[in-house]
Amino acid sequence: MAIKRFVAGVVCPKCGQSDVIRVWQQPEEQKQYRECVDCGYQDSLANDIKVNVAKEPDTRVQRQAVVEVQTVRFIEPS
Ligand SMILES: [Zn+2]
Repeated sequence: MAIKRFVAGVVCPKCGQSDVIRVWQQPEEQKQYRECVDCGYQDSLANDIKVNVAKEPDTRVQRQAVVEVQTVRFIEPS
């Protein structure tokens, strides 16, 4: 069961809104997903890449979103 959580300060690469990005993880896929609840943007990242929107090509968004994504903890069923 994936837990979706908002990541404060992350700017959506598509619509530019902040605080609209949710991330979650699919343990069986070893991937992290993120989505924008505002415009519907969605993508996935390799598991070891932090959700840290550093490669913003859009320079008008100058805010440095130094966001440490909290390690998503999963409750192991066993
Ligand atoms: Zn968006």
